[in-house]
Amino acid sequence: MRIGAHVDPTDPLTEATARAADAVQFFLADPQGWKAPQPREDAERLRATGIDIYVHAPYVVNVATGNNRIRIPSRKLLLAHARAAAAIGAKGLVVHGGHVNAGDDPATGFDNWRKALAYAAESGGFGLPVLIENTAGGENACARRLDALARLWDAVGDHEVGFCLDTCHAHAGGEELLGLVDRVKAITGRIDLVHANNSKDGFGSGRDRHDNLRGGTIDPELVVAVIRAAGAPVIVETPGGAEGQSGDIAFLRGQLAGETSAA
Ligand SMILES: [Zn+2]
Repeated sequence: MRIGAHVDPTDPLTEATARAADAVQFFLADPQGWKAPQPREDAERLRATGIDIYVHAPYVVNVATGNNRIRIPSRKLLLAHARAAAAIGAKGLVVHGGHVNAGDDPATGFDNWRKALAYAAESGGFGLPVLIENTAGGENACARRLDALARLWDAVGDHEVGFCLDTCHAHAGGEELLGLVDRVKAITGRIDLVHANNSKDGFGSGRDRHDNLRGGTIDPELVVAVIRAAGAPVIVETPGGAEGQSGDIAFLRGQLAGETSAA
């Protein structure tokens, strides 16, 4: 099983080495901004590395919204990040499920996702798998609760799209981790990546604050069970830099190898 971490984008391969990681995830531009990603000088090294690379799209991307001043730039930015991620040999581009505004019909959000994927297909395709990630908060989210996820997948199922399951977001979003992988796969048919994070906040809180795997409000064994059931590569998006994340990766490797928890 490939296990890695979300790292600073400056020198991701050095960050991977510092964590003994098999995989890294990073941003290609400011996650809070609308700037298109620039070509990377280390593109050839990244393409040639044995480390699996994932790219996370900026948080501002929301292809579901009914606000066209956000929606249209979002789908363009998503396509630009997909192309830039493909250029460095990334295995997937992770993007949050997005949401509609309060008072808007959730159905428009699912249909806007379908339109965004159709737009990408008409524009020549993303060039790599795009993985929609479940989110923790909001009452109008497309991929917080599984009933919404089912409606989203009904809308986008004709397009090639994958799924990224975040354990912090599921827990804080109000979905029980026990048996979650089976319930998700019954909808999506696939889990391409697991974001293994604990949560500083409680079940159903709707808050998105990641914690190290042995901290937080989630029983770490439940996170391990999700990873086992998903059988997908794992990225920790946990605090504490190289030290904190190395500890989380080592903990997962130990648990998955069958060691009993020292906790
Ligand atoms: Zn995540």
